[in-house]
Amino acid sequence: MTNQQIKPHGGILVNKIKKIDSSGLFSISITEDLANDVENIADGIFSPLEGFLGKQDFESVIKNGRLSNGLAWTIPIVLDADESTATKMKETGDVLLKNHVGLGVAILHVEEIFSFDKEETCKGVYGTSDVSHPGVAKTMSMQNYLVGGKIDYIQRPLESEIRKNRLTPLQTREAFSQAGWKTICAFQTRNPPHVAHEMLQKTSITTRDGVFVNPIIGKKKSGDFVDEVIIKCYETMIEKYYPKNRCKLGTLHTEMKYAGPKEAIHHAIMRQNYGCTHIIIGRDHAGVGNFYDPFAAQRIFDDYPELEISPVFFPAFFYCKKCLTYTNPKACPHGDEDKEQISGTKLREMILKGQAPSEFILRPEVAQVILEYSHPFVD
Ligand SMILES: [Zn+2]
Repeated sequence: MTNQQIKPHGGILVNKIKKIDSSGLFSISITEDLANDVENIADGIFSPLEGFLGKQDFESVIKNGRLSNGLAWTIPIVLDADESTATKMKETGDVLLKNHVGLGVAILHVEEIFSFDKEETCKGVYGTSDVSHPGVAKTMSMQNYLVGGKIDYIQRPLESEIRKNRLTPLQTREAFSQAGWKTICAFQTRNPPHVAHEMLQKTSITTRDGVFVNPIIGKKKSGDFVDEVIIKCYETMIEKYYPKNRCKLGTLHTEMKYAGPKEAIHHAIMRQNYGCTHIIIGRDHAGVGNFYDPFAAQRIFDDYPELEISPVFFPAFFYCKKCLTYTNPKACPHGDEDKEQISGTKLREMILKGQAPSEFILRPEVAQVILEYSHPFVD
């Protein structure tokens, strides 16, 4: 990390990778999502967190969107357990966390266990307690106790196709430095790139050095594209349509929460930790259904003026047949009939029928990648 780079959130890049003997420790199994959280804590993607939130920080995050020391933090990073497991963990002190395939990945140094109000949590994070919201449904299905404490990360999972593009903040900071980039714009995504996204990214780097395309890999809702498709599509787009040394691809392995504005702040903090100076915040960023005002995820940045990473607000791009270019509602006066646009539902229908949409929507090479998969969507 060079001195000129943007500082991690809270000033220090957390590193909790440590060789420790875990033999004989009491162990529990954690979900793949939680195992990802633990690794993200260890690598400093969640800096300044060094573990799962304790009661004071948890309540402050829910109520104020900040840690108890006042630092911006909007999404609770927590480990849930039933009462008897939580009690046993507290008694034991150091607990080995095993991932979904039984590999002991980290040691949790339990500091406290506490119960929490699920409805209050949902209202604080998601702005609703409506169980048709996927984040609310997930919260309501959690165990009743949370276990707080710092972690040490002892062993990464085996490398795999899905992990090969995972980057740590140390790696991205090194890559940006090697590339000679000083201003880096992060692009958050959970979809294969439409040409309009490519144009938006290219517009954002016209006055900056490079774009960090950072797809979210992890549990998604039914109907979303599967992770492997998203990665392959981006690799294809970058190879065919980007000049050398302007676009870096790295995956972020964490669960989408669909928390709209609160998640936009969380997305920005993680990208600052990666070393990005800017982040593109689009229309209805991290939203779902009609739960959020489309611009709430942009307005919330007014409440966090101290964040070092700068949001870049973009309206949605589209191709306009009258303007003869990719443009947006701020620049194009024409009607919907002149726009090459497609809804997510319509695109899904076409793909399931084996049809590629117009070249103004998807690059033919990207469409080809998707069509080669027999199951491109999450069931
Ligand atoms: Zn137009």
